[in-house]
Amino acid sequence: MIEVDTHVHTVLSGHAFSTLMENVAAAKKKGLKGFASTDHGPLVSHGAPPFLPYTMRLWPTHMEGIRVYKSCEANFTGPSGELDIPPFYIKMLDFVVAGLHFVPEETFGLKNSTKAMLAAYNDPYVDVVSHPDNPNYPCDLEKVVLAAKANGKAIEINNQSIQLRPGARKNVAEMIRLCKENDTLVVLSSDAHLCYNIGEVDVAEAMLKEVNFPEELVLNGRFERFDAYINARAERIAALGEED
Ligand SMILES: [Zn+2]
Ligand SMILES: [Zn+2]
Repeated sequence: MIEVDTHVHTVLSGHAFSTLMENVAAAKKKGLKGFASTDHGPLVSHGAPPFLPYTMRLWPTHMEGIRVYKSCEANFTGPSGELDIPPFYIKMLDFVVAGLHFVPEETFGLKNSTKAMLAAYNDPYVDVVSHPDNPNYPCDLEKVVLAAKANGKAIEINNQSIQLRPGARKNVAEMIRLCKENDTLVVLSSDAHLCYNIGEVDVAEAMLKEVNFPEELVLNGRFERFDAYINARAERIAALGEED
């Protein structure tokens, strides 16, 4: 069981079904302590506008006792890790997920997908690449895992991707193997598009169990562990000395 879900959508993603309040209520009912609200950026049809983080600035940290992290699932638009949400807005978030959706597969073959993901893990503002297991955008999983490790960041084990994407399970198994071998953090996420799916990571969890994956490497397994990461991230970014 996880205490924080790092990947949850609301109706603002354009193809999800629940509001933020419904997600909060569902998280509370399931016993989660927090979640990251990660709506899609504008490249996804009817996704949130690029300035969405601006309107999140006055969110309370806790809603009904649940810690809600201001986040997004930005889209890579170029092989150097360019995102569809400009840095000015990205900097307003607590936690940033970025991934590949609806970009030409010929532009993002093995070489460019890998390049974009490595750039993301080296970007101080990006925390996690969403579903690197997606067989439509193959990447060099070992290089991606090592880039996450080098930056103290986590690899996403996306419960929805394992179930919905043909061919993803094999890649997830390989990512888990590489993370265990290289002492690399993971986050288990539901990628919920409906409040009832929030916190559901049972398939991902079963795959970790199969290989006796160390519990302490699951960044969002404990609220305190995840929240400490968020606080350290904020300090690391403040130390860069960049002005808003
Ligand atoms: Zn996604
Ligand atoms: Zn998603």
